Amino acid sequence: MSEILKNYIDGDWRESSDRATFPNEDPARRGSELNRAAASTEADIDAAVGAWGRTALPERQAAVERFLDALASEREALARIVSLENGKTIREARGEVDSALLEGRHHLRQISVFAGQSAPTTDGAIVSWEQFHPLGVVGVISPWNYPLNVMCRKTLPALLTGNTVVFKPASFTPGSGVFMARLFERAGVPKGVFNCVTGKGSAIGNRLVRDPRVRAISFTGSTEVGRTIAQMAAVNFTRTQLELGGKNALIVLADADLDAAVDATVRAGFGCAGQWCTSTSRVLVASQVAEAYMDRLLTRSRALVVGDPLAETTDMGPVAGPAQFEGISAAIAQAQRHGARLRSGGVSDNRDGYYILPTVFDGVTRDMPIFRDEIFGPVLAVSTVRDLDEALAWANDSGYGLSSALFTNDLAAALRYGREIEVGMAHVNIHSGFKTPELPFGGWKDSGFGPPENGRSGLEFFVERKAVYVKAGLSAQGSRVGDR
Ligand code: NAD
Repeated sequence: MSEILKNYIDGDWRESSDRATFPNEDPARRGSELNRAAASTEADIDAAVGAWGRTALPERQAAVERFLDALASEREALARIVSLENGKTIREARGEVDSALLEGRHHLRQISVFAGQSAPTTDGAIVSWEQFHPLGVVGVISPWNYPLNVMCRKTLPALLTGNTVVFKPASFTPGSGVFMARLFERAGVPKGVFNCVTGKGSAIGNRLVRDPRVRAISFTGSTEVGRTIAQMAAVNFTRTQLELGGKNALIVLADADLDAAVDATVRAGFGCAGQWCTSTSRVLVASQVAEAYMDRLLTRSRALVVGDPLAETTDMGPVAGPAQFEGISAAIAQAQRHGARLRSGGVSDNRDGYYILPTVFDGVTRDMPIFRDEIFGPVLAVSTVRDLDEALAWANDSGYGLSSALFTNDLAAALRYGREIEVGMAHVNIHSGFKTPELPFGGWKDSGFGPPENGRSGLEFFVERKAVYVKAGLSAQGSRVGDR
């Protein structure tokens, strides 16, 4: 019988209140069962939200530091779990742990500076200062594509600023969520400060959002679910930080270094089987270089090794599960029906797992669904454009605005792109997924809502602010505290 993963609530490991479980499948092996996770109920969320812990800043910093040490020491074990339940390659999964460590250490350093911003100011007899307070209980709801990096990017700032976290991992990746809970336990985070409840978003995620005791929700996932969350949260004025879908464009101008542009396209188009939120999914290439770019792109795409994600030589694993597989397969068929030209890839013949090959379409026009809709898989839609004017118009002709990249050697073009592109993350001569923790991670338009993660707002999102004014030494000289 497979292992049952339990919830971590108020420092205890508990089954779901009705003892129900759901299977966790390895997408490289259809029908497999890695383990089973607690299919939690509203009562479980209720128990998790009720657990409240308070700790002083130095204690919180020390606990987060111990957690990050534990994460670093478990890099290989965790990478294996992520690869097994998500399907990304073992090398990509190690990269995810490293990214979580880089960001976590940044937040650990940043909290000291952030706390220092609330220092006293003085104006004659009135001493005033800004105070930061924890919000209380916050909910973290994460997707399956970066099951540990995304949760760390939300959870560590929430804990460092003194909040209690109730974390709901995505239903495809309960194993990495539960593993993180074990690391928090091992790091000695006090009972009740970090809680992990697994289960379906529609069953317990919305219960977490609607709970009036939960003062903020940091969510990463689809735009559709994000919109529902924003509506539910508005009822109690619950703060939201929503990182949502994308349809990210990479622009290649006529003067671009084509090898660099192709490298970036392959990396951001097919990394994690096209399941980064910042994946490149549209390419807008200048007509003068379109053929040369396409030749190189097709050669590189066809050479990628697709297969067992645990093999060190694999470049691309399966997509995350049956729903993704069906959705991507349908989008490929739809693109063909709408007249886009399939130049490479498609659904793989390897039916052991949920495999889609690195797929390239060209002849894509603005009215086609493949140009407009997020597919979230290894599928590139290539369109030819005249120049930067047309490229910007096409790139911005999207409901989404998460990330983008431009390849050019023209400084004026790069600066204009930086001004006019409608996205939260813009890159010049770098692939669309590049990020550093010092800068905000978030999207415009339907790609995000509320203050972004990382950057300045990564910690700020999780605090209440209070301005305190104290008039000292009112009348008599001797009235000051401490005077006799
Ligand atoms: P999803 O929206 O289906 O699920 C995300 C999380 O929300 C899961 O934990 C799910 O269980 C939960 N959920 C579902 N319904 C809910 C409800 N009614 N109330 C509360 N919670 C609910 O997304 P997914 O399929 O896990 O992830 C893929 C999507 O995430 C893509 O659209 C991708 O672009 C997006 N994404 C965005 C970013 C970003 O930073 N902008 C990063 C990664 C992924």
